[in-house]
Amino acid sequence: MPWDVIGHEAAVRWLQQQVRRGRVHHAYLFVGPPGVGRRTVARRFAQALLCEQPPEPGAFCGQCRACRQLEAEQHPDLHILDTTGGLKVAAVRAAQTTWNLSPRAGRYRIALLPEVQHATPAAANALLKTLEEPPEHLIVLLTASEPEALLPTVVSRCEVVRLRPLAVAQLQAALQARGVAPAVAAEAAAWAQGRPGLALRLAQDPEARAAYAEEWRQVWTLLQQPLYRRLRAVEGFTPSQRDRARQVLTQWLAVWRAVWHMQWAPDAATAPPGWEDALQALAAAVPRERTRALLDDLLEALAHLERYASPRLVLGAVLTAWPVLEELE
Ligand SMILES: [Zn+2]
Repeated sequence: MPWDVIGHEAAVRWLQQQVRRGRVHHAYLFVGPPGVGRRTVARRFAQALLCEQPPEPGAFCGQCRACRQLEAEQHPDLHILDTTGGLKVAAVRAAQTTWNLSPRAGRYRIALLPEVQHATPAAANALLKTLEEPPEHLIVLLTASEPEALLPTVVSRCEVVRLRPLAVAQLQAALQARGVAPAVAAEAAAWAQGRPGLALRLAQDPEARAAYAEEWRQVWTLLQQPLYRRLRAVEGFTPSQRDRARQVLTQWLAVWRAVWHMQWAPDAATAPPGWEDALQALAAAVPRERTRALLDDLLEALAHLERYASPRLVLGAVLTAWPVLEELE
């Protein structure tokens, strides 16, 4: 069975090759924006490693018990450490006891730590011990949005697999090949800005697509407001709303990336259906250098957010730098 992953051909080929050659490393770090497919690729890799009857080395059958259990993330040798709300050192230490035991069913134990940037420094240091002296049978799979948010010592112990968003047109075609109606595929691919995992979810969820449209509209509203009103729009963000703040920043980043695209490559511009005019107006109203600076601001803001800065302050700081555009629309 092929890995059935949308895009990421080079990464998949490389991972398959490692399994085929029997040269698997002890730790892999899958890096990319949320929704790009990090966890899916990690899971496929685990299937290739633990499949009971691989049709060929590097592939997996998708039918055997191991393949099905891994697909459902229920395999006895797959250990997922939940990092939502911050990964604590006690959780890592407890997991390490299990990781050190021989595998129960297959050849490897696989530890999957999604969004490992949420680990506290103490937890990351504890994890480092495993990465430095991993048990022979253990494979550690980490995912993160920005490697810069991790301890450099952790990153340097991992094989880093970067997963980038696809071109929106390519993603749209892939969705259509999976039976998604063309109009829905165009919308989902554009809202997801080339992130296949997110696009697949959006393709099946009209309400979520509407929410994305609403968030884009919000950007134009904010741009036409004076600073004090913008700050009021984000003052309700509490420290516990970090995930929500990340979503908002990611959407803002998507808008400004689309503007950037429109400014530099209008032919290949990938505006969501119905948004061409609004993006064009914005692209004409803001100098290119300013767009670049705003994009840098947003990337920096996302990194700050990972380092436990206050969501309200981070969002407010970003909005402070935005131009006020009264004449839009
Ligand atoms: Zn299998």
